[in-house]
Amino acid sequence: MLRTSVGPAGLAAIALLVPSNAPRAQETADPMQSITEAELRDHIHYLASDFLAGRDAGSEGYTLAAHYGAILFGAAGLEPMLADSAGAFTFFQRIAFKNMKVSGASALRVTVDGETQNYRLGEGFLAVQLFSSRPLNTEETPVFVGRGIEEPDHGWNDYEGLEVSGKIAVMVGGAPTRDAEPVLPEEQHAVYSSLQRSANMRVMSALRHDPSALIIVVDSGSISLWNEVATMMERPSMRSDSPAGAEEGAPRASPWIIFMKAEDAAGLLSGTGCDPQTGGGTCTPGPLDGVRVALDLKQDVEPAFSSPNVVALLPGTDPALKDEHIVVTAHLDHVGIRNGQIYNGADDNASGSAAILEAAEAAAMAPVKRSIIFVLFTAEEDGLLGAMHFVANPPVPVESIVLNINLDMVGRNSPDWPESLLAMGSENRRPQLLELIRDVNSRVGAELDWRLNEGSDPHNHVQRSDQLAFMQKGIPAILITRGFMGPDYHRPSDDPGTINYAKVLQATRLAYGLAAEAANREPLFEE
Ligand SMILES: [Zn+2]
Repeated sequence: MLRTSVGPAGLAAIALLVPSNAPRAQETADPMQSITEAELRDHIHYLASDFLAGRDAGSEGYTLAAHYGAILFGAAGLEPMLADSAGAFTFFQRIAFKNMKVSGASALRVTVDGETQNYRLGEGFLAVQLFSSRPLNTEETPVFVGRGIEEPDHGWNDYEGLEVSGKIAVMVGGAPTRDAEPVLPEEQHAVYSSLQRSANMRVMSALRHDPSALIIVVDSGSISLWNEVATMMERPSMRSDSPAGAEEGAPRASPWIIFMKAEDAAGLLSGTGCDPQTGGGTCTPGPLDGVRVALDLKQDVEPAFSSPNVVALLPGTDPALKDEHIVVTAHLDHVGIRNGQIYNGADDNASGSAAILEAAEAAAMAPVKRSIIFVLFTAEEDGLLGAMHFVANPPVPVESIVLNINLDMVGRNSPDWPESLLAMGSENRRPQLLELIRDVNSRVGAELDWRLNEGSDPHNHVQRSDQLAFMQKGIPAILITRGFMGPDYHRPSDDPGTINYAKVLQATRLAYGLAAEAANREPLFEE
C-alpha cells in the first residue's frame, strides 16, 4: 500500500499508526501480562515489510526502522541519553561507517623453484578480509598447515609444532586418513570432507594461530564455495569509521583469506604429498621450501555514511543501584536487498527487535532498582559493528554495565530445538546466569532447551551475535534465541507469515522478566 516515498513527518505518523489494533499497555496492571502476541505481531509485520526493504544498515529502510524504534521508546516513557551535534538529547547513537572493497589492483604471485606465475583477482584468486582493513605487502616462504584441522580429542592437530604467527599459511580441504582409514568419527569426517561445510571451523582454527594471510586451496568438489566467496566479494563490506570504534572489536588476528583453485595450486603443493583436487594424500604440514608467495593486497574505501543504534534509558529507582545498568539488546538491521530480492528478516531479527520494544514498554510500567538500557543495534549482520561501537563508546561507564541480555532470532522452530528457545549464559557467569534464567522462567513458562549450556556448541552461538561485544569487555551476557540455523535463515523467505508468535511472546516475557529480576536482585551475583 505504501508505494510513495514519505518525509520524516509522514513516517512518524505511519510509525505511530502501525500498532493501532493492540491494547495499550497502560490498561493492564501487570507489566508481564501487558506483553501481547498482537503487539509483537504488529511490530514484526511493520519491521519485516517490503516497505523497509530488509533494513540494511545505512539504507533508508533501516532509518525508517530506527525512527520507529525511537518513537516507540519515547511513547513508552523511556529517556534518550545521547546528545546530537546540536547538544539536544536523542535516542540515536550515530555511527560513521565506511564501505571497503578489495582493490582490483591486488595481486598474487607464486614462484616455485624459480618459475613465477602471476594471478589476477577474481580469476586466479579471491581475497576477503574479515575484521580489519590493513593492507598486506609481502614476499616470503609460506607455511603449509595441511588441512588446518585441530581435533586433539581424536589425536589430530595439523598445527602441532608449526610457527604460523605473522606468516602466510596455506591450507587444503579434505578429511584426514591413516592407512586409508578416516581418523575422525564418521560425522566429523563427513563435515571435514566438504570444504564448504567446514570452512568456518577451519578459518576459526587458523585465526587462533594469527597468520598474516591464509591461502585456502579449493578442491574440485567445493567449487560452490568459490562461487559464494566471489559473490560476497562483489558487495562492499562495512567497517566503523569513528576513531574510538574503528576496528576496536576486531580480534588481533585478522588475516587476509585467499582462495585459489586446485588446478592453480599444484605447484604450490608439489612438495607436500597432497592432492589439491581432493585434499587426499599425506599432506604433511611444514614450511614450503622452494616456494615463494608474493601478496600485494589492499582495500579501496568508498564514501562514508552513518547509521544509528537506537538507545533508550529507564532510570533505576534506587539511589545507589541506579548507577548500575542492565543492557537489553537486539539487532534491528538485516541484509537488505540481494539479487533483486528483499530479505525481510522477520525472524532475523524483527522478532528480537519487536521483543525489545515490548519489553521496554512493560519495564517502563514498573521501574526497578537498577537502570535498564534498551538498545536496537545497527550493522550486526556486517560483523557486530553496532554493538562493538556501543561498548567502545558507551553512554554510561562500561564498568557500570552489569549484565547484557541479547535476543537474536526468537520466532521460528529450529529442527534441532523444536518448540523451544535457547537461553545461554556466558562462560564467566554461567552457573549464576542459568540459575537466574531458571528462576525467572518458573514464572514465564517458556519452553527452554539447556543442551548447549551443558555440552559443547558446534554452531558457536555465543560468538555469533551482539552479546559477544559485551563478553569481550568481561560483562556477563545471556543470549535468547531459537538457534541460528534451520529453515529460511538468511533467505528472502524469512517473512512475517512464518513466525511462531507464541514463541516470540515467550522470549519477550523471558527477556523482560530477566531484566526486571536482575535489576532488583541484591547482590546480582553471589561471589
Ligand atoms: Zn541475527
